[in-house]
Amino acid sequence: MSLMPHSLKWNVRRQELINDTERNISMRPVNRGQQPEKLVITKYQDALPDLSERFGRYCSYCEMQLSASLAVEHIMPKSKHPDLELKWENYLLSCVHCNSIKGNKDINVSDYFFPDRDNTFAIFDYSQKGIAVSNSLNPQDSEKAQKTLQLTGLDRLNENEKRFIDFTMKWNIALRSRKRLNNNLSNVDIIESTIDLAKESGHFSIWMTVFADNPDMKRRFIEAFPGTETRWFDENGNSKPSKSF
Ligand SMILES: [Zn+2]
Repeated sequence: MSLMPHSLKWNVRRQELINDTERNISMRPVNRGQQPEKLVITKYQDALPDLSERFGRYCSYCEMQLSASLAVEHIMPKSKHPDLELKWENYLLSCVHCNSIKGNKDINVSDYFFPDRDNTFAIFDYSQKGIAVSNSLNPQDSEKAQKTLQLTGLDRLNENEKRFIDFTMKWNIALRSRKRLNNNLSNVDIIESTIDLAKESGHFSIWMTVFADNPDMKRRFIEAFPGTETRWFDENGNSKPSKSF
């Protein structure tokens, strides 16, 4: 029998939960795959339906769900790299906020982490307060992660901003869903409606963070959000340590 008093045990458990929900969770890594054979890109907007199908209708940076006003995002800006304007490999999806802050900054991709090539799941910490660079990174990766947040202004989300309001709202939905599920852990209908709600809400990383204690749900989220790059996850839905291909 454990000699630890009940209240202390509870505190230790509570601390574990807090740590669980604040560690190493991040921008959803995605797999774009090959350009669909039937897709002919004569203007970049042509790629939007196929990109939406591959990635789901989520901003590749802030993870906000968008039924409308989702744009084809050029990783290398088309104004500086016209040769990449119609290249499938140069596309992500983005919301108007991330898109306009990133703008046409000319970038060296190796100075940043990108969700289509790096394990962006392992470089940030999510908490209800917002997104921060994970303190588990070495100084070089830490600087790169910070630059990644700055690129789309995710380092300075404030409480009046649409992206942060959405983030907070979805966090609360995920918390309520976890409570509901924990009261009915084997109820298949509740499991399935939780997955539907997560897909509808967006913010994969929030769901993965809030359900950090539940490997079964994490595996389901990874499978349910289209285009999630599975190679970065282990069988329990945790991030693998490597950061780049
Ligand atoms: Zn965004």
